[in-house]
Amino acid sequence: MRCPFCGSEDTQVKDSRPVDDGGAIRRRRQCPACGARFTTFERVQLRELLVVKKDGRRLPFDRDKLARSIRIATRKRGIDDEQIERIITGIVRRIETSGEVEVPSTRIGELAMESLGQLDEVAYVRFASVYRDFVTVRDFEEFIRQLPEDEEPPAAPARVEAAAGQP
Ligand SMILES: [Zn+2]
Repeated sequence: MRCPFCGSEDTQVKDSRPVDDGGAIRRRRQCPACGARFTTFERVQLRELLVVKKDGRRLPFDRDKLARSIRIATRKRGIDDEQIERIITGIVRRIETSGEVEVPSTRIGELAMESLGQLDEVAYVRFASVYRDFVTVRDFEEFIRQLPEDEEPPAAPARVEAAAGQP
């Protein structure tokens, strides 16, 4: 596995253990060239999901890309890689059990928001602010106002119909 930091081809596995009830193997790796440590997850892929982008293009579902965006949203929120993996596994399972082979990118965004909403409100708002493509601060404030004030983050956030175009 190539080092994501320096690009060296030769990285070492320091530790392997099953996670997700044996559904995945977590490996801690270290790069001898630059000393970076990182984690990889290995799992069975039964079939390839296709993501339909807003412009109609179909691309293979990119688990790592979703992990990166969730990782950005959860930065410094005390949410570790395993929790992020569980979120993604949950999303993939929900899509797979729906029987769909093609899934709109917006649906993946909604599922990620649902999961983050149950986990951490700050991460939820961060993810939502990117996902919903807020164009103005006002849109963002409007969205924040819709969040419930109580302890319970929304399980299924209300869909904001395209904020653009409103007076
Ligand atoms: Zn390296």
